[in-house]
Amino acid sequence: MRRRWHSRRPSSRLGRRTLPAGGASCGAVRIPDGRSHVLGTPVLDGGAAADAPRPLDALERPRLPAEPEAPPSRLGAVLPVKVDDLYDREEEQGLLARILMPRYLRMLEAVQELLQSVFPFLSQEDFRLDDEATRKQLALAAEQVVRIDQSTRDQLRDVLKVGQERGYADHEIANGVPADGYGGLRGLYLETWRGRAETISRTELATAQLAAAKDRYRATGLVSRIQIVENEDTDEPCASMNGKVFPVEQAPGLEHPNCRRGYIPLVDEAA
Ligand SMILES: [Zn+2]
Repeated sequence: MRRRWHSRRPSSRLGRRTLPAGGASCGAVRIPDGRSHVLGTPVLDGGAAADAPRPLDALERPRLPAEPEAPPSRLGAVLPVKVDDLYDREEEQGLLARILMPRYLRMLEAVQELLQSVFPFLSQEDFRLDDEATRKQLALAAEQVVRIDQSTRDQLRDVLKVGQERGYADHEIANGVPADGYGGLRGLYLETWRGRAETISRTELATAQLAAAKDRYRATGLVSRIQIVENEDTDEPCASMNGKVFPVEQAPGLEHPNCRRGYIPLVDEAA
């Protein structure tokens, strides 16, 4: 049994409103020197050149545990609303993948272009964007899709669970019971997830940027260490990371959502 409470599910609306597919709003990359670099349309070398990003189904996707079944109900009894009644996991993950994957690839391309402009003496042959790098970036995007989707789902489930344990009617679960401090599904979208789309888009682009930077720095053959750069107004634990040096492979990623950590590539001394 599937019940639809909304003519358009809010999570889809959230994604479509603030993360336009193929839009230019995510097309600028900020690098540690503070300049912004506007990205062009990605054109990948080799076999992946003309291919649109592969759909999530084409990738290894972690299998998630199935939702526990609701206990059998007596004939005619009203079944409690379940997360699946409100939320279609396949569709949500597909939407997220279509938004994130092209942007992850575009970030890989951007970092490549940036490094080619910094190291013009590297030949295209020595330093090309190969299929392996593309696959790694897509796999990372797929992991992130699953992670974001799981967090959405867990929060929806928690709101339903509390409402049902308290014996609220469906309209109370939907709209909240202010006298009890229960925000319901409405509160989830209007309060808990306020600014969530922006946080996700920022955090995902930064995650893609750091992963692409590590990959491309290594590909130059000239960079084996990076230095962490943090903003001056950053709190702990990020603040004390500022200026620390790590081998490229061990460079720590983002510490938290909206983290502004960046890497400066340290060019190896000539042997
Ligand atoms: Zn941070």
